[in-house]
Amino acid sequence: MNAIQDIRDRVPALAQTVYGKPLVYLDNAATAQKPVEVIELLNRMNSATNANVHRAMYRLSDEATNLYEGARERVREFINAPARENVIFTSGATASINLVASSFCAKYLKEGDSVIVTEDSHHSNIVPWQLACEKAGASLKVLPIDENGVWSAQDIIPLLDERVKIVAATHISNVLGIINPVKELIEIAHRYGVPVLVDGAQGIVHTRVDVQELDCDFYAFSAHKIYGETGSGILYGKEHWLEEMPPYMGGGDMVGTVTFAKTTYAPLPLKFEAGTPNFIGSAALKPALDFAWEISQGECGKAVKESESKIIAYMKGALAEIDGAVLYGESQNRIPLFSFNVEGCHPGDIAQILDKMGIAVRTGMLCAEPLMAHFGVTSMVRASFAPYNTLQEAEYFISGLKRAVAMLR
Ligand code: PLP
Repeated sequence: MNAIQDIRDRVPALAQTVYGKPLVYLDNAATAQKPVEVIELLNRMNSATNANVHRAMYRLSDEATNLYEGARERVREFINAPARENVIFTSGATASINLVASSFCAKYLKEGDSVIVTEDSHHSNIVPWQLACEKAGASLKVLPIDENGVWSAQDIIPLLDERVKIVAATHISNVLGIINPVKELIEIAHRYGVPVLVDGAQGIVHTRVDVQELDCDFYAFSAHKIYGETGSGILYGKEHWLEEMPPYMGGGDMVGTVTFAKTTYAPLPLKFEAGTPNFIGSAALKPALDFAWEISQGECGKAVKESESKIIAYMKGALAEIDGAVLYGESQNRIPLFSFNVEGCHPGDIAQILDKMGIAVRTGMLCAEPLMAHFGVTSMVRASFAPYNTLQEAEYFISGLKRAVAMLR
């Protein structure tokens, strides 16, 4: 049996038809489809183990707490964090970055200081830092990309000085699909005593992330892009930062003792998990990461790598042959994600025609307006592949794109 087909068979959403055509789902960078193990856990918890975690002395609550904390342990192991205290459940990568931008900056960012972000950032890795800078009277600096969409770690050196308080870098761009040299960037920033947050929303899906080896200070990602549930995500942080940072939100679960005169806070990780968490969505991270791990290992992992290499080679070649097509981002170090435009065709029109063929792609600014401005466009079409996508789907996509272009010209 074919390894990719085996993976597909475990992901029920892929078997559906759209307008009578088999679904070709190429919007995985936005949200990945879920395997049965994740769906089963969500169903089981919704129908049976739906009880608040950490709070009660009864069986259902105990079970929910075990599943929630079990998922935290699975995340810890998956990213090789030293301890559960380093792993904070959030509602997603956006919330994780906002947590750091708000809490870290409240303590460390002062008037006249600055924050550095990479030019290939998603809005989630720009706006939270702008809000923090506005509040503190600090400024935002940008590590630029070149004409290929690549930033060099060395180029951060001229930007680093004693007023830089944190660097926030994109691991893999959701527009360009380029795998950035975050480890080298972290080494350089640390030489200047500056901590680094890595936006790993795409990085966690496509690379093996070992936070201790990377030596990042923070790593943020969402569950729904790695086969899990929406509204759940992770902030990894080094313990000394998380200990020193003030709480982000106040409420239940994050407290030690509360009086009207003074409140003390719960130890990590609960200090940053105020209120009833998304315990069902977060618990589903365990089967989601088990699935991600399993399909990246052994013969299956080899088959996925081979399939992705073939898809990358095919897509690059096929897009280059389409008259007027421009693929954004050029690097050997990339994932199977392709953002492009075709001269004379509006991206929205292309996407609508593809939709009628059962092909789901993303268009628009892709939550990266500064990156659009860098390439002088206001919109792109993006086809982003997951391990369960096949070369045949890529071929169908290209033939659909050619038809769409012929109709629009
Ligand atoms: N960062 C990157 C690189 C992304 O691709 C995304 C989502 O597409 C995000 C951040 C934000 O993720 P979420 O909307 O799940 O919080």
